[in-house]
Amino acid sequence: MLCIYYLYGMNRWLIYLTFSVIFLSVDAQQEWMGNTTPTYQALIQSLRAMEKIIPRIKLFNMGNSDVPGVPIYLCVLNAEKDSTSTFLKARKGTTLLFNNAIHPGEPDGVNACLIYSKAFMDMKDFKGQDPLIAFIPAYNVGGMLNRSATSRANQNGPEEYGFRGNAQNLDLNRDFIKMDSENARTFVRIFHALQPDIFVDNHVSNGADYQYTLTYIASVRERIAPSLGELMYDRLLPEMTQALKKENWDLFPYVETVKETPDDGIYQFNDLPRYAMGYASLFNAMAFTVETHMLKPFPDRVRATYDFMKYLIEWSKENAALIETARAKSKEWTKKKAYFTYNYNRTADKDSILFKGFTARVDTHEITKIGHLTYDISKPYERKIPFYKYYNPKDSIAIPSYYLVRGQERKIIEQLVANGIAIETLKEEKKLRVKAQVVRSFDAISKPYEGHYMHPSKEIERVEQWITFRPGDVLISTKQIGGQFLHSVLQPEAEDSYFTWNYFDSYLQEKEYFSNYVFKDKIKEILQNNPELQKAYETKRQNDTDFANSEWQQLYFLYQNSVYFEPSYMMLPIFELE
Ligand SMILES: [Zn+2]
Repeated sequence: MLCIYYLYGMNRWLIYLTFSVIFLSVDAQQEWMGNTTPTYQALIQSLRAMEKIIPRIKLFNMGNSDVPGVPIYLCVLNAEKDSTSTFLKARKGTTLLFNNAIHPGEPDGVNACLIYSKAFMDMKDFKGQDPLIAFIPAYNVGGMLNRSATSRANQNGPEEYGFRGNAQNLDLNRDFIKMDSENARTFVRIFHALQPDIFVDNHVSNGADYQYTLTYIASVRERIAPSLGELMYDRLLPEMTQALKKENWDLFPYVETVKETPDDGIYQFNDLPRYAMGYASLFNAMAFTVETHMLKPFPDRVRATYDFMKYLIEWSKENAALIETARAKSKEWTKKKAYFTYNYNRTADKDSILFKGFTARVDTHEITKIGHLTYDISKPYERKIPFYKYYNPKDSIAIPSYYLVRGQERKIIEQLVANGIAIETLKEEKKLRVKAQVVRSFDAISKPYEGHYMHPSKEIERVEQWITFRPGDVLISTKQIGGQFLHSVLQPEAEDSYFTWNYFDSYLQEKEYFSNYVFKDKIKEILQNNPELQKAYETKRQNDTDFANSEWQQLYFLYQNSVYFEPSYMMLPIFELE
């Protein structure tokens, strides 16, 4: 059944090829539809060749990658005469941005975008006022250059491909908030120069086997603006699903299994801000990840990625007015929000979804002699399975009117500005009644994750006090389009905040101390001047034997509660102004 299905698909593909007017060599085109993907150099050369022929195709060098001297490019279809007018058109009109090879072992989007660009050269019905289509030909340059035929052990082609990690061995699809890579800095420049309405990150799945070639992830609906949720889930996805049926594709949600096989149900993926898609949704882009299935042949996966792209562009062309209205509403929604909601958890609520799977069974392996999972592709099935797709925020916090960030936090200030956040640098000293973020407890993971000993759990108290701010400190209004991004990084309890990613570890350590033999002479005076402390101290001494028997514990308790203790200990350089 599967073979017939593929053959039918391939015929359509060949018909498409036959009707294309070929400017570039036929060999190159066929290569993109076969079982190979170009090297970075060949990829850029092909796009350069197209740019030379068609003025509406432009290739821009957008800045550094992780490899010195090798830039990250942006290719724009339906471009204007130069970069200024092209980016202006992108920001004003309807714009789609596709990202490829963030994981270069998953290069389906690389080929799909080449094929689409070639097809675009011949599209007579594509008008200047139609959407602008931008794509990053290959984002993870270091990974692209690190080619082999073996790093994706479970994938069916292409013959050679790049590696998942970049030159620094970072997974760039975890780097959009912490921005450890040059790639992320360049991506942020591209993203804010275009301000895309729709963003797509192209991938290939890992995990279970099933019949689908083409799966997608869309942003968690509960987290995004209602106007975007309605347009994506109630219009775009049902209409795309119908349209793709014409090409014999069943568009299905990404299969993240509850247990080992999909039979027990699937989850909606939680697109945290660290991921490309989660990042894009913080700026009210309608964001998708395309995940083709690893065990389907590369040419079919490329065709599926191409068809998703083609129909998404067609849909955007027809529905540009709806997109613009929903986007405008989402910006108002961001500015008017009174509470920032975070720590989204899946609920136990489930929908039922018709799933086309393969029967799973456990066989004993002839070598290991251990029972192992096998999917029998000769036994396809169609059955309803549970789909856990609902999320609720566990926490929320009233959004302050302003944040203040201390001037020494240059990296943070640079990152905020790079992300389009408007800031005001103080010119003179200012004493303000603010809420200081004070860390009461935190933990750290035991092994580094993407170069960081992250802090998943923490308790933060907001302590109201007068603080003197200095010239160079920055004041940031929360009433801006990037509001969701701003709270996601500056509210320390949020999943991907700068605190979570270890930006403030230097504040979590005492810098001064005391010597017992000197400090013991001061405690009498400390207690005399503070009757409340004296009471607390006596109670603790009576009720806590360890404390009563430890000179150090007693002295440290009094030190901590005295004027000698450093006021900046555990206080983050971020303040909230109501
Ligand atoms: Zn991937």
